Amino acid sequence: QSDLEEGIDYMFKIVMIGDSGVGKSQLLSRYARNEFNAKSKATIGVEFQTKTVVMDHKVVRAQIWDTAGQERYQAITTAYYRGAIGALLVYDITRQDTFDHVETWLEELQMHADKNVTVMLVGNKCDLGSMRVVPVEVAKEFAQKHNLFFMETSALDCTNVEQAFLGLLSQIYLTIR
Ligand code: GDP
Ligand code: MG
Repeated sequence: QSDLEEGIDYMFKIVMIGDSGVGKSQLLSRYARNEFNAKSKATIGVEFQTKTVVMDHKVVRAQIWDTAGQERYQAITTAYYRGAIGALLVYDITRQDTFDHVETWLEELQMHADKNVTVMLVGNKCDLGSMRVVPVEVAKEFAQKHNLFFMETSALDCTNVEQAFLGLLSQIYLTIR
């Protein structure tokens, strides 16, 4: 709550995590700016995007952090996770390895973020159904077992993008109020 601004009731720090190439940056730019394939690397120095939503008559500002590709080298710093109350943990439904690594991401998150961190597991690129290798049921079961919320999305065609972020924000809201 360092960023106290007039009219903001709550500030939630959210982190985007998951393997490189799964679509974290595209999901965030789709949600925050409704853009896909924007030259997001032009925003060098910007570590997060903000989105303000109203829920239950309260103004909630989400500060959503994205990596600058450090996940490629397992080089995400503890500062990235510090104070995070929610995470979008993204895998690619067409790449098994990205789903296999979800458990490792969870461990890393639980080690560094708020201990009550709320997680939305996101199977991205659902527009590529013909190339799917991770069945919905397997992901759903995994999510249930680990107490995660779950959704499949496409940053390309917009499927469930808003729902995934809003779902996460409202679950966080339920846990803190
Ligand atoms: P990041 O490394 O996790 O941030 O992944 P990016 O957002 O940079 O996306 C990696 C690649 O996947 C890029 O070529 C994107 O255009 C592509 N991509 C991201 N989201 C989707 C999606 O929903 N559907 C499809 N078909 N491609 C996507
Ligand atoms: Mg990225």
